[in-house]
Amino acid sequence: MIKRFLNISDLESLLKAKSEYGSKCKILAGGTDLVVRMKADMIDPDTILSIRNIDEMKGIIKGKDGTVIGALTSHTSIEENALIRKQHYPLYQGVYEIGSPQIRNMGTLGGNIANASPSGDTIAPLMVMGAKIRLMSRSKERLVPVDKFFKGPGKTVMADDEIIHSVIVPAGFNKKNSGFIKAGLRKALSIAVVSVGWSLKDDKLTLAFGGAAPIVTVAEIRKDCSAAELKKKVLNAISPISDLRASKGYREQVILNLVNSVMEALN
Ligand SMILES: Cc1cc2nc3c(=O)[nH]c(=O)nc-3n(C[C@H](O)[C@H](O)[C@H](O)COP(=O)(O)OP(=O)(O)OC[C@H]3O[C@@H](n4cnc5c(N)ncnc54)[C@H](O)[C@@H]3O)c2cc1C
Repeated sequence: MIKRFLNISDLESLLKAKSEYGSKCKILAGGTDLVVRMKADMIDPDTILSIRNIDEMKGIIKGKDGTVIGALTSHTSIEENALIRKQHYPLYQGVYEIGSPQIRNMGTLGGNIANASPSGDTIAPLMVMGAKIRLMSRSKERLVPVDKFFKGPGKTVMADDEIIHSVIVPAGFNKKNSGFIKAGLRKALSIAVVSVGWSLKDDKLTLAFGGAAPIVTVAEIRKDCSAAELKKKVLNAISPISDLRASKGYREQVILNLVNSVMEALN
């Protein structure tokens, strides 16, 4: 049962509260995941830290190592940002695919990452761009490459006293050399059945697969590899499950189809 609901409006107070309440508390950003889980009795935190008013964790700025996106930046703000569309095209496509306008207005980048869903639509885009996640606690700050952040569905390397402060995304990923495709059961309001993010640098194609393994996985291949080599690499990188939404074989085939459409667009 919830004992405390704290409305926090600055970063320092958030880090203090996190160090005090640790695993007993949950951060509420947009609430689009957390509230659903609480209503379904999947989690039962005793303290809620509402962070929606922490302005210093919102916004998109150009930094020296790439674009810095605050964890509390909404999907809509990312979708509407010119720098994102120009330099981080897969992320633009990822947030564009999320839920409905209401979910994109409320939902945040930090919430999508912390939720650690293998189908989270920002994750494959961040993987193919080599993004880093800035974690903060009261005593330290660290940068974790996004491909080292996830341990399993809902599990990350984040410690109980840490928060996601921001994400740093290298620039240079445009419409021609990168992208993200999602195949859902419905056009809107669906969590992806499977998705593929991709980026091309020189001759190397990086692919990231969403909804195809317990975490988003990555494969690197040469752009001119044979069809057989490509299929083998892709199937090695994924391990989809069968569930109510789709079978393992269906997921594998859809991923292969998505990858083939990326290859066709490149050739
Ligand atoms: C109808 C519906 C449709 C959806 N469709 C999609 C979809 O198409 N694609 C998709 O990817 N997702 C989808 N989602 C899931 C959800 O909207 C997104 O994951 C969203 O980005 C979550 O962000 P939030 O700010 O609402 O997170 P919250 O619900 O506030 O938090 C989610 C989790 O992250 C933690 N958290 C939040 N911010 C931080 C932080 N800064 N540091 C540390 N921990 C933090 C919270 O404690 C909580 O555990 C959908 C959800 C609904 C209800």
